[in-house]
Amino acid sequence: MTDCLFCKIAAGEIPCNKAYEDADVLAFYDIHPQAPVHILVIPKAHAAAGAGEITAENSALAGKCFEAIAKLAGELDLSAGFRVVTNNGPAAGQTVPHLHFHLLAGKDLSLTMG
Ligand code: 5GP
Ligand code: ZN
Repeated sequence: MTDCLFCKIAAGEIPCNKAYEDADVLAFYDIHPQAPVHILVIPKAHAAAGAGEITAENSALAGKCFEAIAKLAGELDLSAGFRVVTNNGPAAGQTVPHLHFHLLAGKDLSLTMG
């Protein structure tokens, strides 16, 4: 999609610090990390603006993102624990309307959820 930041990153038009890539999914380190490990996991295709647009047609891409998250958790040895967050809409703080999941780890996340 034109004028979508994450589409441009997926297309290689804007550089990123890549953590994982396959045919459908790209994962890269967040530019403003909220935890020692903060990775954004996105479908390369602009299939949905956010979790509120997941349908039977595009849900496989969300599943692929979670497969990537599990691989990253193994590769980065996040066995102590990690959190996956997705923001949907302005009140949730979503700033980039291209479906993405935040993978957060490396600190004690247990006391805060909202
Ligand atoms: P949201 O707020 O939409 O849930 O998440 C968007 C995330 O993208 C934010 O955590 C923000 O720091 C990150 N971000 C914004 N612009 C860039 C960028 O150009 N490169 C990278 N790596 N992350 C970005
Ligand atoms: Zn996009």
